[in-house]
Amino acid sequence: MQRLIVIGGGAAGSAVVGEFLRRGQPGDFDLTWLVGRQAPGRGVAYSTTAEHHLLNVRAANMGLFADDAGAFIAYAQTQGWPVKGLDFVPRAWYGDYLEAVLAREITGARERGLAMRVLSVDAASVRGDDANGYSVRTADGEELVADGVVLAIGALPSVALAEVSESARASHAYTADPWHWPLPRKAPERVVVLGTGLTAVDALQSAARLWPNAQLTAISRHGRLPRSHNAAPGQPYEQQASLIEALRAKPNVAHWLREIRAAIQDEDVEWRSVVDGLRSETQNLWRMLDAHERARFLRHLRWLWESARHRLPQQTTNELARLRTQGRLKVLAAHIRSIDTHASERGQLEVRVQPRGAEGVRSFAADLVIQATGFNISVKATDHPLIRQMESEGIAHPDELDLGLATDAEGRLLRADGTPAHGLRCLGTLLRGSIWECSGLPEIRSLAKAIARDMPGELRQAAASAPARANRPRISSLASAVA
Ligand SMILES: Cc1cc2nc3c(=O)[nH]c(=O)nc-3n(C[C@H](O)[C@H](O)[C@H](O)COP(=O)(O)OP(=O)(O)OC[C@H]3O[C@@H](n4cnc5c(N)ncnc54)[C@H](O)[C@@H]3O)c2cc1C
Repeated sequence: MQRLIVIGGGAAGSAVVGEFLRRGQPGDFDLTWLVGRQAPGRGVAYSTTAEHHLLNVRAANMGLFADDAGAFIAYAQTQGWPVKGLDFVPRAWYGDYLEAVLAREITGARERGLAMRVLSVDAASVRGDDANGYSVRTADGEELVADGVVLAIGALPSVALAEVSESARASHAYTADPWHWPLPRKAPERVVVLGTGLTAVDALQSAARLWPNAQLTAISRHGRLPRSHNAAPGQPYEQQASLIEALRAKPNVAHWLREIRAAIQDEDVEWRSVVDGLRSETQNLWRMLDAHERARFLRHLRWLWESARHRLPQQTTNELARLRTQGRLKVLAAHIRSIDTHASERGQLEVRVQPRGAEGVRSFAADLVIQATGFNISVKATDHPLIRQMESEGIAHPDELDLGLATDAEGRLLRADGTPAHGLRCLGTLLRGSIWECSGLPEIRSLAKAIARDMPGELRQAAASAPARANRPRISSLASAVA
């Protein structure tokens, strides 16, 4: 019987655990799911209880499993929720759905006799290799053995920007974690949010509700909030196939920008349809770029792509527009120069920025600064204990541009010599460097399906071609040998 371990209790962990359970027959495997300290299922995005935090994907496409994209809407209807397929519903509802699906799959699997454990503890270390198997130690000190391990740990913990001084970091007026803020005793009058992407929008909406009198400022290099979805998706772009062909013909980001601009120039063409029509090709296109072109994309185009691709529901766009009209929200295009404790105002921070395109530096005071600059995927700079340990062990490596982990297109971690480890997979945001797009549920669930389908067979093959198990060190002795 194969022993499988999934690490991470968010939507990606849920998708791959669910896929294993749906496929498994008694005796196939013994599955352990390490979900960390939080309740399994919801992860970061769907743990929010705020009704104003909406999904940015339409309900009709949020089913957890790749072969049933409509399952969420079907579930919502059984619950009597007033949801239609085109709606963007509260993420909290989606979290309820995830929990319900997982409970159903786990109960069903156990009733069928599948061995399955859920442990509310972090994985502290992973050691081993395909030939000898893997050993996972939990933060409680339990040692588990596995033939295959899936890392679904989401993005890495946020790290304060380099421009933030030590004293500002240590103060209660700065938070690098956009999901958990210190609640000041006195309502802040000036709140600064660093970033203008989806996470920053969450923070702005929450701050606006918590502190109705606060002045909000969002800052990013380009000062662009995400674009808005239309009420209903537009007609597919008729020339999408030839556009994709043209992009494939020349993997160069300047050429790509020209081609896409030419496509959307026609006023009969809905740009959102063109962008959405590229989604299924994004991973392939990204993989065609060499490191130089990828770096150019990151420098010059990423912000433009992100704001067009990760769009907001219209309700959210309208809310932000209202805040701006009321003068409560300012969006600034600027470079952060420094954030420090204020020289004269106790408890406040001084934010120094250089507005985009201008020479001088502007400075203003803030009672609270929330860093919401997007997913942290820098493996080189992270202090995530498991990633640090796996890197020091030589079984995990940063992607060439430090965009997550070095893996192949199916998430197999690459060894130092560049060959893939069949028994060690990654799923989710840390695949940014390998396939760019693996943060949204549609991509996560497709890869989860592929992992659950392929990994058991690959492990069987690896076992058959490896030296007899009797000649291999037992995993427990392997773990202590490596330790
Ligand atoms: C604000 C926001 C809104 C979003 N909205 C949408 C949307 O509408 N539609 C969509 O498709 N996508 C959306 N996303 C993308 C979202 O990232 C994915 O849909 C999905 O939630 C990612 O799940 P995950 O499991 O990869 O990561 P996470 O949710 O981060 O879960 C990872 C889990 O692993 C745990 N973990 C970490 N280290 C360990 C360890 N050592 N041992 C055990 N556990 C560990 C973490 O504590 C965490 O619980 C949104 C993201 C954000 C930030």
